[in-house]
Amino acid sequence: MSVKATITDKGAVLLGKSLACDAFEESRLLRVITHAHADHMIGLQQSLHNCEKVLMTKATKDLIDVMRSPLFLMGGCVETLDYGKTVRYGEESITLFPADHILGASQVLVEDSEGTRIVYTGDFRLEKTPVLDADVLVMEATYGSPSCRRPFHQDVKEMLVSVVKEGLKRGAVYVFGYHGKLQEVMQILHEAGLKAPFLAPERVFQVSKICERHGMRIGRLYRVEEKEFGSMLERNQPCVAFYHMGSRGKVGSGGFCVYVSGWEFNAPCRQIAEKEYIIALSDHSDFDGLMEYVRRSKPKFVITDNFRVGYAETLARYIRKRFNVSAVALPRR
Ligand SMILES: [Zn+2]
Repeated sequence: MSVKATITDKGAVLLGKSLACDAFEESRLLRVITHAHADHMIGLQQSLHNCEKVLMTKATKDLIDVMRSPLFLMGGCVETLDYGKTVRYGEESITLFPADHILGASQVLVEDSEGTRIVYTGDFRLEKTPVLDADVLVMEATYGSPSCRRPFHQDVKEMLVSVVKEGLKRGAVYVFGYHGKLQEVMQILHEAGLKAPFLAPERVFQVSKICERHGMRIGRLYRVEEKEFGSMLERNQPCVAFYHMGSRGKVGSGGFCVYVSGWEFNAPCRQIAEKEYIIALSDHSDFDGLMEYVRRSKPKFVITDNFRVGYAETLARYIRKRFNVSAVALPRR
């Protein structure tokens, strides 16, 4: 079973005979991008040159077009694939399924000529992710340790809304997060009926518009580059400004700041300074969610992703112990 999937030292998840996911691998002529986060687009330029096909969902393609440039994906053989539609390649078939993570995120199923089901989850949050039956399961391991449990669920969204409302009483609120999650925050605040205008710098604005085009409801959003809205921040008027986590410390200093992070396990909200809060909103499963996926997927062999940040070895150990199946963290370190 182990020969049917592996993870290379460069982070490529190899499934079956032809497919490499989420990083470049020279010997593979098929590439899948599970979603538009940087640690899953490794060596994309090389894959565009080298592969016969680079597969991704339409939403992922649209996100890459704005995160890189519309020219970036041109020239390569990019093929967009809807969830549930199958592509055949040689004796194998490849199908993408939804993953609850960021817009466009997918799981990958490869079925080979022997009928073996080889599944790669990509990044996912269990709640709205369909669990796929697998013989060989390759899974993310970001929160793959029992120390990474978030027993709170709905409380997180309520807490987020109330902290932002509290901040708006004093003026502008800055929200920092990664692409995808920022838009989830917009949607939560919009659905909670917040009336203050939402502002974002150009890149975040464009990513948000893609999310909106693909069905997310994010409320009224304006560019901070536009004078009339940028000045709201300068004058500390009530509005919510959304910035990428990379801008933390560069904008909003002295202002009311909210950071959304999955690396919080004790409470849905933590105050770190007079006007600074961390909200424990994650777009990954916690330890219990990862274990639950394995339980329902019923694999005979599991590979945990030891290339990307997380607890792959710990997770593999717990899977062996609890389910009595072979599990290994790859690549070995
Ligand atoms: Zn991700």
